[in-house]
Amino acid sequence: MPAHCAAYNCTLRRTIETRKLGMTFHWFPKDCGLRRKWEVALRREGFAANDEWVLCSDHFKPDEFDRAGQICRLRPGVIPSVIYVLIICQLCVCLYILNYFCHA
Ligand SMILES: [Zn+2]
Repeated sequence: MPAHCAAYNCTLRRTIETRKLGMTFHWFPKDCGLRRKWEVALRREGFAANDEWVLCSDHFKPDEFDRAGQICRLRPGVIPSVIYVLIICQLCVCLYILNYFCHA
């Protein structure tokens, strides 16, 4: 079953097509403390990850990957930093999506 990316407004899922594009998908950490940091970084209200959820490589910076081996892994302790959030514009009260760097 294809895994969906858990990030807000990201509809990417693990498919042959996304693999061809070089995208990778990463399970939420097993470590409870680090998993909680991922959940907070996503800024999805009430979101709690389980072992089914993944994040796609769009939400990490290039230097947060370890591509030394055949499998692309995240470096230990990495927290997703490229997150899309819904912003309410103060001027026109419209909604728009911002590519938000939560700890850049
Ligand atoms: Zn994603």
